[in-house]
Amino acid sequence: MKNPEDLIRDEIRALAAYHVPSSAGMVKLDAMENPYTLPAEVRARIAAAVSNAEVNRYPDAAATRLKEVLKSTLAVPADVELVLGNGSDEIIQMLMLAAARPGATVLGLEPSFVMFRMIATFCGLKYVGVALGPDFSLDAARVIAAMKEHEPALTFIAYPNNPTGNLFEETAVDAVIGAASGLVVIDEAYHAFAGRTYMDRIAANRNLLVMRTLSKSGLAGLRLGLIAGRAEWLRHVDKVRLPYNVNVLTQLVAAEVLAHETLLEEQAAAIRAERARLVTELARIPDTTPYPSDANFILFRVAAAGRAFDALRQRGVLIKNMHGAHPSLENCLRVTVGTREENDRFLAALRQAAG
Ligand code: PMP
Repeated sequence: MKNPEDLIRDEIRALAAYHVPSSAGMVKLDAMENPYTLPAEVRARIAAAVSNAEVNRYPDAAATRLKEVLKSTLAVPADVELVLGNGSDEIIQMLMLAAARPGATVLGLEPSFVMFRMIATFCGLKYVGVALGPDFSLDAARVIAAMKEHEPALTFIAYPNNPTGNLFEETAVDAVIGAASGLVVIDEAYHAFAGRTYMDRIAANRNLLVMRTLSKSGLAGLRLGLIAGRAEWLRHVDKVRLPYNVNVLTQLVAAEVLAHETLLEEQAAAIRAERARLVTELARIPDTTPYPSDANFILFRVAAAGRAFDALRQRGVLIKNMHGAHPSLENCLRVTVGTREENDRFLAALRQAAG
């Protein structure tokens, strides 16, 4: 009988699993969720739709109705195609699987969303990380030099970036797209809080794909992500998609909620307003430096991140400790913007910990 060392690839055995800490009974500000629930009237419509769902049947493999709703609510240009995923994590996986020729490379920025590197490893791709500048800006010259050297099949740019929260300079992103010989994926997971998009640039840039998710704007539990781009690329990406990856209930409920487009936008506006208040309040706490954010979370630096994280947890507030994830994140913590009450509990706990 063989052992894991014989059967499981070395690079998979060497990986640490993506850790999701328990949050039972805590103020949960660690995962960039929208803190608001849906109003009773929308929930009633969902309940009615779900009660008629044919869960004995496989879902519509093409998700035709949901795609139509998405195209209109997300302002997807007419000649642009969509592929849907079970969260945008799955989209990243599909892109990488489709591009995983022996020796193929994925390029990402550091620090950024950790799944770019992890999924590249899952798919047997080489991953090259290019450091951001000290203020977390995108250094186009450095990225373009790395592109010349490694010729990545795929380059991922989170816009705004996670965990830093900033939007990169448009001129720098444009320069990278213009210089790339491979595909450039602009990951707009936090678009609802930033207001800037590359969706309308797909027509002008053959090698551009734009990824979105509904997770941050209120539907994390449904798991729905999407990629927009030209048919010449997406028709191949669609072949590695498992046939029924977006389930019946997700298709129904997402379409129902998106029909109330203004609702999610109002919630995003409330989150943006709370974000501004949180940044101001954080800056008033001794030894605490928040970074500017265009997302629904704030990266901030303290004197001792481990101590502050533990003190918050003891007071029932769960955020994310970024210390150790990358050298430029030394003593950094990341807090998701919650409701006013949740944010006040977080601020009170942090002030106590700092005092
Ligand atoms: N991209 C970025 C930049 C993210 O931060 C996240 C979630 N943390 C994702 C993609 C994945 O989101 P989901 O799979 O929920 O769509």
